[in-house]
Amino acid sequence: MPTVNAVAATSATDPLVRTTIKRRDVGPRDVLIEVSYAGICHSDIHTVRGDWGPVPYPLTVGHEIVGHVTEVGAEVTRHAVGDRVGVGCMVNSCRECENCRAGQEQYCLKGNTQTYASLDRDGTVTQGGYSTHIVVDEDFVLSVPSSIPHEAAAPLLCAGITTYSPLAHWSAGPGKKVAVVGMGGLGHMAVKIAAAMGAAVTVLSQTLGKQDDGLAFGAKHFYATSDPATFETLANTFDLIVNTVSTPIDMGAYLSLLRLDGTLVSVGAPSEPLPVQVFSLFGNRRSFAGSSIGSIAETQEMLDFCAEHGIAPEIEVIDADAINEAYERVLKSDVRYRFVIDINSLR
Ligand code: NAP
Ligand code: ZN
Ligand code: ZN
Repeated sequence: MPTVNAVAATSATDPLVRTTIKRRDVGPRDVLIEVSYAGICHSDIHTVRGDWGPVPYPLTVGHEIVGHVTEVGAEVTRHAVGDRVGVGCMVNSCRECENCRAGQEQYCLKGNTQTYASLDRDGTVTQGGYSTHIVVDEDFVLSVPSSIPHEAAAPLLCAGITTYSPLAHWSAGPGKKVAVVGMGGLGHMAVKIAAAMGAAVTVLSQTLGKQDDGLAFGAKHFYATSDPATFETLANTFDLIVNTVSTPIDMGAYLSLLRLDGTLVSVGAPSEPLPVQVFSLFGNRRSFAGSSIGSIAETQEMLDFCAEHGIAPEIEVIDADAINEAYERVLKSDVRYRFVIDINSLR
C-alpha cells in the first residue's frame, strides 16, 4: 500500500494539517492518478466541521479532482497512462440495484461509495483529493477534454455536474426563465451552464456586489435578495429556480417566484431543515425538489458540453498551506468563485 502526501482534518475545530495517507495497491480494474488540482467545495467544509453528522477523523476531503493516469490495472480499458482524467464525488456503487442499472448510480439504493468518508470495498474509509495520488475504479474516472484548462477543470467534477444535472433534468433551455439563488462555486457554474443551454438566467444574490460578474457569466438580470422589492418584482416569474445556498433560506419567499408548474430545486445542503408551508406549493401548482450530483455518464456529458461551449469555472489557485484561510473566505461568501488547490505544493 503506497503512502502519499495529503492534507487532513483531525477534528471539527482544528485547522487542516499536512499528513500522509495510504492508497490501496492498483487492482485489475483500478487507475492510479497523479493529482494536479483539487477544488474546495462547500461540502468539504460541511463535512470536516461535522455539519452533516459524525466524521471518521482523520479525514482527507476533496471531490473535485483532476490529474493524469500514471498506472492502470491489467483489465483497464477506458483509460491509459498519460490520459488527463477527473474524479468527482463518488468512486463506486453497488451496480446491481434498480437505480444503478438505470445508469443513475448517484442514487444507488445501497448508497454510492463517496470519494471521502465512505466505507470502501476493502473495509477502509475513502480519502479524497487533497492528496498527491488517488486509486479509483476505472468506471468512476472521467475523461477531461483537452480544451478545458487543466486547473479550471477540477470544479466541474462537483460544482459543474451538480448544477448541470438539474438544469438538464428540468429542461433549462430557450424560452425558459431560470433563477439561480446564491452565486458561489455551484451558483456561478449554474449561471454559465443555464445561459449556454439557452435559458434566460436571473441571479438572486444577497447583494449587488457580484452583479458585473453575474452578467459577464451570461445572466440577463441580477437582483439583491436583501431588497424586499425583489420578491414583489419577480413574483410568479420563473420556470425553474436552482437554490445553491449552503444555509437555510425562506422557502416560501422563493417559491412565490415560480410561475405555473414551476420547480424550485435545492442543491444547497444546509444541516438544518428547509421548512415549506404546503400552501406555498398550492399556488401555481409549484414543486419543491432536490438533486444530488449526477451520474458518471451525465458527468462525462457535462464535461463535453463545457468543452463545446467554452465554459470553465472562475478559479483562484492556492497552495495547500492556504486551505484553512480559504475555508474562512468560503464561509464569508468571499470566493470568486472556486478555490483550487495546486497539489504540486504537497509534493
Ligand atoms: P459556496 O461557494 O459557499 O456558495 C454558496 C453561496 O450561497 C454563497 O456564495 C452565497 O452567494 C450564498 N449564501 C451563503 N450564505 C448565505 C446566507 N446566509 N444567505 C443567503 N445566501 C447565502 O458553496 P458551494 O460550494 O457552491 O456549495 C453550495 C451548497 O451546495 C453547499 O451546501 C454544498 O454542500 C451543497 N452541495 C450540494 C451538492 C449536491 O449534490 N446536491 C453538491 C455540491 C455541493 P451570494 O454571495 O451570491 O449570496
Ligand atoms: Zn462538492
Ligand atoms: Zn446501486
